[in-house]
Amino acid sequence: MRPLLGMHVSAAGGAYRALYRGKDMGAEAIQIFGASPRSYVANLPGDEDVAAFREAREKTGIGAVYLHAAYLVNLSSDTPALRARSEKNLAAHMAIAEALGADGLVFHPGSYGAQLPEDGIRLTAAGMRRVLESVPGKARLLIENTAAGGTKLGGNPEEIAAMLAEVGDPERTGCCLDTAHAFESGIIDDYADPGTLGAFLERWNSTVGFARTYAVHANDSKTLAGSHNDKHENIGDGHIGTDGFRALAGSGAFSHAAWVLEVPGIDDLGPDEENLKRLRACFA
Ligand SMILES: [Zn+2]
Repeated sequence: MRPLLGMHVSAAGGAYRALYRGKDMGAEAIQIFGASPRSYVANLPGDEDVAAFREAREKTGIGAVYLHAAYLVNLSSDTPALRARSEKNLAAHMAIAEALGADGLVFHPGSYGAQLPEDGIRLTAAGMRRVLESVPGKARLLIENTAAGGTKLGGNPEEIAAMLAEVGDPERTGCCLDTAHAFESGIIDDYADPGTLGAFLERWNSTVGFARTYAVHANDSKTLAGSHNDKHENIGDGHIGTDGFRALAGSGAFSHAAWVLEVPGIDDLGPDEENLKRLRACFA
């Protein structure tokens, strides 16, 4: 069984356009920003936009749609005002996900600053709970693993599992595995080595669990394992390499998840057909 494969696509000109852009490049799954990733302002789409999106989804047959939250969101911040703004913005993106009928919203857990990591975990979980309470529906709120470093949370599956356990709403939560972030955080330094990959998969499955991993961000890494330096690279051109992706694909561990590319693109114009072709070949 091969998972749904696709990419992050631009939603410029209307979210429905992203579905056609993805379809044109051969995507079976897409990810979009429901609103600007660099602003605290996020407006709900109008009725016409929603209708156009639902129609386009049917026409294109795109199997999975995920939204990516704004980069500014930090539910674990040591500054209450920033937490409040983050929560409000994340809830607004969640409401957009619900309006569009998206499968979920992916967000980064943020930095705990001057607090302890366990404070950050507790605050993130509390924020997630309030977001879910304020936006009823079916879309899942997914925690993405990060490249860690400094006081950044979510660089390992134990922290993600702790946050998910504390939220306690398995129907509406889950996680997203970013292959580059896992490599950069140092929780896996060689996907192509069977022993290393096996240990990583066992660690992931015994903490967050494969079944709770609904999306995979398929990205190669420009930086070395353990660098804590988040720089995505085209599939096969980075330090993970084609053999690494082939091994992860071949493991079958995430075959139920939607795999989306967040790579710079061959022409630096974002995820493209060539990267999707390279990823697809890893499943052959
Ligand atoms: Zn990612």
